[in-house]
Amino acid sequence: MAKKRKRYRIKATKPLLIMLAFVLLLMLAVLIALFSCTLGTAPAAVQATGAPSAVPTPTPSPTPEPSWEELRLAEIEHYVRAYGNCPDEAAVEARMATMVIDPEQKMVAFTFDDGPRDRITDLVLDVCEQYGVRATFFINGENIAAHEEQLMRMLSLGCEIGNHTWEHTNVEELSAAEMREEIGRVNDAVRERFGYTIRLFRPPYIKYGEKGSETRNTLLALMIEWNMAVVNHTRSTHDTYDTYTAEKIYRRGVAETDESKKPLAGSIILCHDKAKKTAEAFGRIVPELLSRGYQLVTVSELLHYSDEGFHAGWIYSSAN
Ligand SMILES: [Zn+2]
Repeated sequence: MAKKRKRYRIKATKPLLIMLAFVLLLMLAVLIALFSCTLGTAPAAVQATGAPSAVPTPTPSPTPEPSWEELRLAEIEHYVRAYGNCPDEAAVEARMATMVIDPEQKMVAFTFDDGPRDRITDLVLDVCEQYGVRATFFINGENIAAHEEQLMRMLSLGCEIGNHTWEHTNVEELSAAEMREEIGRVNDAVRERFGYTIRLFRPPYIKYGEKGSETRNTLLALMIEWNMAVVNHTRSTHDTYDTYTAEKIYRRGVAETDESKKPLAGSIILCHDKAKKTAEAFGRIVPELLSRGYQLVTVSELLHYSDEGFHAGWIYSSAN
């Protein structure tokens, strides 16, 4: 009987024990959850508001957008690999090492208009390649088809391609629709052939309408639409003047200040890849400026590293 009664008692208490264990487990789970929650949110709340009791704010995403510099280097590397004729990885790395810019050191941007041209453009690019420096080429669209080699070489050397209209047209003489066609056609051709996006426009004859004029308003609206900027220049080398020899071009290119006392550092220098004397002068200008600590960069690089930065629809003459 006693044995039987004992078995009865066990049978009666078993559901109670199970319930008790369940309740204990539940309490333990709640305690663990509370504890881990407190551990996880308290530091963020303290950091965000100084009050541990504040409502925790969500932490920002840990994946930031790539910087302009990272995008620029990725773009250059793409063209080094595509058009650079690099036999191996070491050659790619050596080329890319020349693209590094020290934002603290002085910079100058040489620009070459009206090309690409037979012979002359390659002479300018020879100088860029020899010294590992970059320049900006404001091209006419009508020259693209016959000079694809030179354009690919520019991109593989980290040089910048800018827009100088299709037929070297004075945009002041164009209607809004004509202006869109004359400039947009160059952007489209370069993008379609090389996958490259042009960001700069230099108006032929440096004519782009007075401030507030219809021409200028139309042009700047196009620049904003296409994320581009207008590029004037700080000083000209006067290399299109018959009287200007390679020696004179060289002296204008390396003078620390120009006739209006503007310094060379931060300058945008106007040249043309149309005459051999310009290429000769550039071959002397580059080593001279490198010896003085200058970095020869593209216009976009110069603007991005300037205090003002690059803005679509702006007109730039210098970065100082
Ligand atoms: Zn021109």
